[in-house]
Amino acid sequence: MTNQFSTQRTAQLAQVRQELVALHQALVSNHLVVWTGGNVSARVRTDGEPDIFVIKPSGVSYENLDAASMVVCDLDGNVLAGTRSPSSDTAAHAYVYRNMDEVGGVTHTHSNYACAFAALGKAIPCVLTAQADEFGGEIPVGPFAIIGDDSIGQGIVSTLAGHRSPAVLMQNHGVFTIGASAKDSVKAAVMCEDVAKATHLALSLGEPKPIAQADIDALYKRYQNVYGK
Ligand SMILES: [Zn+2]
Repeated sequence: MTNQFSTQRTAQLAQVRQELVALHQALVSNHLVVWTGGNVSARVRTDGEPDIFVIKPSGVSYENLDAASMVVCDLDGNVLAGTRSPSSDTAAHAYVYRNMDEVGGVTHTHSNYACAFAALGKAIPCVLTAQADEFGGEIPVGPFAIIGDDSIGQGIVSTLAGHRSPAVLMQNHGVFTIGASAKDSVKAAVMCEDVAKATHLALSLGEPKPIAQADIDALYKRYQNVYGK
């Protein structure tokens, strides 16, 4: 499928496609994905044109992912450009972009430690300062939802809208993260797995000590201001 994009948009797309190749490699190097699982997308905003997004193709192994294989979609998930089918999670990404205008990037993984919490339907409690910094509290659980319609997207948006956490553990499934950019969403996915692993280890040793809400608030505020959103 081909599509005529404006000169500005064509230049933006070239950059975003390349960026997505690097971000997908980051999922691999951070051990967040196996085989063809996981995906990252990025919104493209162009003055005077409707927003679109770029996402990983379906069923392509990570070593074969290149800029040309990325798929361009409108915010309803329809393919505008690309030689391959978009990720099977495209509807969920599209739903998030349609309903959360501030979101510029979405990442999805089945990373092991976070999935262990998702399998239990258990939020990751905020017992480490790194989690207070990045997530501002617990990492919440979203509803059980089956792929194929808007239910995953609805679950992500209903859980994360108005929540500090950029990550949601979809029950019995895995992690979806959002960010102002695709890179921010990948960072949240990496950090989510890191705190899930450490918290799992803590829970296996005993009962983690809670952090006072006032301290969580102060840590979050400081981190968000210093490292800026
Ligand atoms: Zn999944």
